[in-house]
Amino acid sequence: MKLVIASNNAHKIAEIKEILQGKFEEMYSLAEMGIHCDPEENGTTFLDNALIKVNEIAKHTTFAVLGDDTGLCVDALNGEPGVMSARYAGDHDSAKNRQKLLIELANQSNRNAHFETCVALRYPDGKIITAFGRVDGIILTEEHGNGGFGYDCLFYSTELGKTFGESTSEEKHMVSHRGRALRNLLEKI
Ligand code: IMP
Repeated sequence: MKLVIASNNAHKIAEIKEILQGKFEEMYSLAEMGIHCDPEENGTTFLDNALIKVNEIAKHTTFAVLGDDTGLCVDALNGEPGVMSARYAGDHDSAKNRQKLLIELANQSNRNAHFETCVALRYPDGKIITAFGRVDGIILTEEHGNGGFGYDCLFYSTELGKTFGESTSEEKHMVSHRGRALRNLLEKI
C-alpha cells in the first residue's frame, strides 16, 4: 500500500517514517506529493482533527492517507494545551509555546502531564481506521536536551528517566504517544 502522510511538520513526518519503516510499500509527505494543503484543525478532540486531516488530504490523492493529531495535556492546567498545543501561544511557534507553558506552571507543584496522539488511516475506498497512543511524564522547570521537537525538551518521560529532548529517536519511539498509536494502528490493519 502506498501512503501519503497528512502533515506539513517535517519532524513529525520523519518520526512517522521511522516508526513505520518497512510496513508500507512507499510513504510520501505532502511536499513530496506536491500537495499544498494545510487543513484547518478546528475539531474539539484529537480524533476530530485526525479525521479532518485525512479527509481533506484524500481529496488530493488516490493513495491511502495517514493523519496524526497530537497534543500535550497538563493535569494542573485541566488538560490544556490539549488540542490547542500548536497554537498555545497563538502562532505555531514552539519556543513561545514552551515559554508560555513554563509561565503557566510557575510555582505549580503538580507537573504531571501526558502526550496523546490519535492516528487515522484512510484507505482509497474511504474506509477509516483509527488508533490512540499516550505517554505519561512530568513538565520540568527548564529545557533539557536539543533533540526532538515541540515540547520534547520540557517533557521528562518517567519510563525513559530523561526528557524526550535528551533521548535518541529510537528511545522516544519505544515509549512515545506516536510510537504507541502507530503500533496500535498496525495491529488493526
Ligand atoms: P499537531 O499534532 O501537529 O497539531 O501538533 C500539536 C503541537 O504539539 C505542536 O506544537 C507540536 O510541536 C507539538 N507536538 C506534536 N508532537 C510532538 C512530540 O512528539 N513531541 C513534542 N511536541 C509535539
